[in-house]
Amino acid sequence: MLGRDRTQYKTPDQIRLMRRAGLVVADALDAVLAAVRPGATTRELDDVAHDVIRSAGAVPSFLKYGHPPYPSTTCISVNDEVVHGIPGDRALEAGDIVSVDCGAILAGWHGDSAFSVIVPADGEDPSRAGSDADRDLVETTRQAMWRGIRAIAAGARLNAIGGAIEDFVDERFGLVEEYGGHGIGTEMHQDPHVLNYRTREAGRRMRSGLCLAIEPMLTAGDPETRVLPDHWTVATVDGSRAAHWEHTAALHDGGLWVLTARDGGEAGLAELGLTFAPLAD
Ligand code: MG
Ligand code: MG
Repeated sequence: MLGRDRTQYKTPDQIRLMRRAGLVVADALDAVLAAVRPGATTRELDDVAHDVIRSAGAVPSFLKYGHPPYPSTTCISVNDEVVHGIPGDRALEAGDIVSVDCGAILAGWHGDSAFSVIVPADGEDPSRAGSDADRDLVETTRQAMWRGIRAIAAGARLNAIGGAIEDFVDERFGLVEEYGGHGIGTEMHQDPHVLNYRTREAGRRMRSGLCLAIEPMLTAGDPETRVLPDHWTVATVDGSRAAHWEHTAALHDGGLWVLTARDGGEAGLAELGLTFAPLAD
C-alpha cells in the first residue's frame, strides 16, 4: 500500500515476509563475522555472505545495483573507508576496523544490515581487539544506531531519528551527513530518506507499516568524505577511521520489530528501556 507521501506501508503479513529476508541477512553477517581474522581477504568474506544468501534461496541485493553496477554481494569498508567498499584482494590485519554491509531479497522483500568490528589478533579476545579509541568509535556507532531505531515511534516525526542520533554522538566523533537511512520493502531504497542528524524540518509523522533501515556512520575525525576512483568506495577525506552500523526495523500496531537482528531487537531495545514487539506467526 503506497501512502500519499509515497511511503510503502506494509501489512503485518508483509512485515513477516521482510523478517524472513532479515534473518537471511543476519545469517550472512554472522557467517562473515565468524570468518573475520588476520589474513582473510575481503573477497573471501564476500564469498561467505554470497554462499549463505544463495543457499537460503535468496538473492544478494547489492550485486549489480546502481551505476556502475556494483560488483559484489557485500560492501566491506576498512579503516578510513566509511561505506561502499568493494571486496577484493585486501588482506585484513589485526586492529583493522572492518565494516560489512549486506542486503538480501527473499520472496521479493528486502533486508539490509551492517556491522563494524575490529579484527582481533590470532587468539585475542575480540572484545579487547584494537585501540581504546577504535573500540569507542565502533561501540558509539552501534549505540547511535539503537538510539535511532528507538526513535521510530507511531505519531513521532521522522526527524526524531536524526535528532536522537545527533544528540547521542558527542563532539569526539564526526557524524557523516552525505549518506543516511531509508525506507525499505520491495526495493532496497525507498522513501523516505532518513537523515542521521537533526533538521529544522520535522518530517512526516511515522505510522504503522513503516519499515526503515537506520544506519549511522561515524568518523574519528572530520566527517567529510570522498568517493574513490572505483566509483563506489566512500572514504574520509582526512584519513580518519570510520564505523557503520545498520538494521532494518518495522513499526506495526504492536510496536517495533528489528527485522535484521536475530533476536528481533530484544536486547538492543531493552538496553534503552523499550520492549521489542515481534509479530506472531
Ligand atoms: Mg546497508
Ligand atoms: Mg541501507
